[in-house]
Amino acid sequence: MVTIHTIACLKDNFAYIVEKGNTCLCIDVPEAEPIIRFLLQRGKKLQGILITHGHWDHIEGLEDIYAAYNCPIYAPQHPNYLIPQTTHPIQSADPISIGGITIEPLFTPGHMPAHWNFFIREAEALFTGDLLFRLGCGRILDGTPQDFFNSLMRYTALAPQTRFYPGHEYTRANSYFCEKLYQHDPSLSEKLKTYLEKHSRREGEGFEAVTLRDEFEVNPFLLSLDNKLWISGKREDPGVSLFRTLRILKDSFSNKPRQSL
Ligand SMILES: [Zn+2]
Repeated sequence: MVTIHTIACLKDNFAYIVEKGNTCLCIDVPEAEPIIRFLLQRGKKLQGILITHGHWDHIEGLEDIYAAYNCPIYAPQHPNYLIPQTTHPIQSADPISIGGITIEPLFTPGHMPAHWNFFIREAEALFTGDLLFRLGCGRILDGTPQDFFNSLMRYTALAPQTRFYPGHEYTRANSYFCEKLYQHDPSLSEKLKTYLEKHSRREGEGFEAVTLRDEFEVNPFLLSLDNKLWISGKREDPGVSLFRTLRILKDSFSNKPRQSL
């Protein structure tokens, strides 16, 4: 039985501890202290670390975590984004096995060139780094809209009941953009309302992971894969051009969240 624990880090980052029996893995390490504190409270140690991508806010705690647990670090490698603590560079989609937990890496460029998602089939859990957020997606910082679009398309091959675990908590800020976008579409407005009622997270409560099924109903960037959307009074066809338009609109939206890297 696999249990996933969400650790809030920095301003709005998440690390995730994946626990099975005596094995604990950590996915992304924005800072070391809350992760170490959580493990100490449970009397556990880390057997492995997986990194989705090399932006500072996903790896800042690596040095201290490595000093504490000296465990393997699986991380992407790219000449522009070196992660010096890496012990096992991720170079293919070959499954990774750590202490009885099998992790399937999915290559997901678009936010940056060396970006990976991690799928744990037995838990039906997908760790999406800065590719997919609740009601939104990451910025295209070092990649093309086509790369990003293709990476999101990979989610259509996963079971709808898969739950996803993003690298940041941006639900509220993203919901403002969706409200504006769906203001002339009663069906999507209603779906957004239902989603927010179901998945709203109040202060002090745990992060509840959303299924891909629910996310595909209402996340505009996922809708752009195969649904028409109303943009500025015009019904736009699905595809990479619609995805790109949405990303540009979101980047200039006044309620945009703190820029993430
Ligand atoms: Zn990032």
